[in-house]
Amino acid sequence: MSRKGLILVVSGFSGVGKGTIVRRLLEKYDNYALSVSVTTRAPREGERHGREYFFISEEQFTSMAEKGELIEYAGYVGHHYGTPRDYVTGHLDAGRDMILEIEIQGALKVKEQYPEAVLVFVVPPDAATLKARLLGRGTETPQVIEERMRRAVEESEGVERYDYLLVNDDLEACVEELHQIMLCEHRKTAVNQELINGIRTDLKRFVEGE
Ligand code: ADP
Ligand code: 5GP
Repeated sequence: MSRKGLILVVSGFSGVGKGTIVRRLLEKYDNYALSVSVTTRAPREGERHGREYFFISEEQFTSMAEKGELIEYAGYVGHHYGTPRDYVTGHLDAGRDMILEIEIQGALKVKEQYPEAVLVFVVPPDAATLKARLLGRGTETPQVIEERMRRAVEESEGVERYDYLLVNDDLEACVEELHQIMLCEHRKTAVNQELINGIRTDLKRFVEGE
């Protein structure tokens, strides 16, 4: 297995279950860590600074972006969101897989800088299920739910830019599949060059020593 962690980007329509999947993955396996983004939007009820997001001002955001402290950043419905660099690289170096729950513009920027990053797009079994989940969560007004459903139509255009499609039907099966995807990604030759070099050296020494 590659010793360095990999970035796992999880995107998908609002209400599809990204947060639920990620929480379950973190509960079940201890080799994952979740990146906490900075945002200029106001906290929603129940959200805590440093847990869901670091809630910062536009000025602080601009300063972080200018100093290169964000791996990526993007605008989304009038606000800015970004991924702090230090936290992510620290965990990757420690061998943990870093989960980034971000939208498509950010996902593509991450892939430019980290070609080995794994981009996963989560979809519902069908549109009616998506709407039912948004309604069931009960955090948005009917009008906002309509907006989010319309936005899902737009977002569906970008799905082919991702490496994997994950259908969130049965939650446990979905979480397990995601974990299996990451296990396979760690087996790729491209992320195991050190191991390959070690095997080559070992073989050479062994043959020469015979
Ligand atoms: P997102 O983070 O993508 O906006 P959430 O994780 O908040 O979505 O999930 C939206 C709603 O759907 C929540 O009420 C959650 O409990 C529910 N949900 C998530 N996954 C499933 C699933 N596999 N089956 C049934 N309900 C689900
Ligand atoms: P929300 O305001 O509903 O929490 O998030 C709005 C959108 O911003 C979601 O699609 C979420 O995935 C995305 N997002 C959250 N953090 C980041 C980030 O750091 N970078 C980018 N590019 N998108 C983010």
